[in-house]
Amino acid sequence: MAPDKSVRTKKMLQLMFQEYYRVHHDTIDIPLRIQNREFGLENWDFSWICKKRKEVHEDGKENWVGCGRSGRSFVNLLKCPHCGAPGLQVTRWSRHIGYRTRDHLLNDLVKTVPHSIYHSAAFYSVPVARSMAEKKWQGAEIVFDIDADHLESPCTERHDVWQCTNSACGATGSGSHPDNCPDCDGTTFRALKWICDECLTAAKKDTMKLYDKFLTGHFGLDSDKIQLNYSGHRGYHVRVRDPMVFNLDSNGRMELAHYISGFGMNTSITTDGYLRVKPTGDLRNWQMPSIARKIADTMIEFINSIDVYQGKEPWVKSLKLYREDAIAGLKMNPPILSAKVKKVGPKYWQEIANKSVLLYGVDIDQPVTTDIHRVIRLIGSLNGKTGFAVTELTRDALTDFNPLSDSVVFNKGTIQISIPERGITVPEITIDGDTYGPFNGSIETLPSSTAVFLLCKGMAFIE
Ligand SMILES: [Zn+2]
Ligand SMILES: [Zn+2]
Ligand SMILES: [Zn+2]
Repeated sequence: MAPDKSVRTKKMLQLMFQEYYRVHHDTIDIPLRIQNREFGLENWDFSWICKKRKEVHEDGKENWVGCGRSGRSFVNLLKCPHCGAPGLQVTRWSRHIGYRTRDHLLNDLVKTVPHSIYHSAAFYSVPVARSMAEKKWQGAEIVFDIDADHLESPCTERHDVWQCTNSACGATGSGSHPDNCPDCDGTTFRALKWICDECLTAAKKDTMKLYDKFLTGHFGLDSDKIQLNYSGHRGYHVRVRDPMVFNLDSNGRMELAHYISGFGMNTSITTDGYLRVKPTGDLRNWQMPSIARKIADTMIEFINSIDVYQGKEPWVKSLKLYREDAIAGLKMNPPILSAKVKKVGPKYWQEIANKSVLLYGVDIDQPVTTDIHRVIRLIGSLNGKTGFAVTELTRDALTDFNPLSDSVVFNKGTIQISIPERGITVPEITIDGDTYGPFNGSIETLPSSTAVFLLCKGMAFIE
């Protein structure tokens, strides 16, 4: 790949982002207590340092390498441009950044124009300090991340591709890469993950469930204390901005995450006529009836939608035939596994319960919720992996939101790009209602929205 093409592409995208930030001040979200947040910038270019260091050789001889200089480069340098020493320290990240005011942040966005910008969910006394001890943690919003990547939507088989990195092999396949290459038994792969309406809709449905069932439902949180946004790529973020939760520690957040994902539910059911929950070390007595109730409600939800269930288990037919009886039993208190549902005994009820609880929870990315030092994308900024805006949404707006058109910001004119020939074909993509691709080894003139997406994805170069 010609480095000059790649550099030219990055510079052009950066200029486009700059123009966007120059004009769009209103849609940039200013986080609560901005002066207490740590910001992290992922840059288009690399910062490098040629550290002065002593090298000790096997024969005991020592010598000094490195000139101590530093600089920036759009190319990932392997050697110091001044002294030629290898082993530069290279990063695209600037961490421990702080902004005192809204203007300070907005001006810096136009000046530095990062590829992506993040801020801490936490509040710190000294956000620019290098160590956590010096930063002094003062609480944090609770953050949930729902990523299409985790949901294993069937469409990944259609649009995700991998290639074995063994240069003598180069085998390719669709979906997630195998543990071992079927051709050469190799274990390293280049993977391309893609997005489409189907997986983004699955992520959206889980986000609505998190919001409706758990946050405003079970937890009774006020909707004005919940901030919701599309990440600009594969998923959605939800932030709870209620001071009541700011001091919850990592363990407390872990419990929340477990509750929301329905962790451990399937292992705790007994099905001897009644639906009961086995006493375990994690559960207190008073919790068991309420968990049994939740499982019963989830089973009702599952049985109500049994007509669209794709599985071929022997109990499916019985549930369809005796649906009313099954639901009537589960609605009782305590819930009963109705004997009127013919051909379904304890073993099948257990299977039905296990299937149902998969419906109960929301597949959140747990470390994002439990890590109290995590950074999260700034709402209103641009996502450098796609060129889409990180879009703030109300709960009502979420219902009809289509990220592949509603988050597109570069929608004027066309751009000529080249897609190099590779082992991996660029899958088709539907943006703003029009479908383009698949591409492999061609020059195309595409609407800016689609061109920018392919450029940001690193699959194409500016011509
Ligand atoms: Zn040097
Ligand atoms: Zn291989
Ligand atoms: Zn998809």
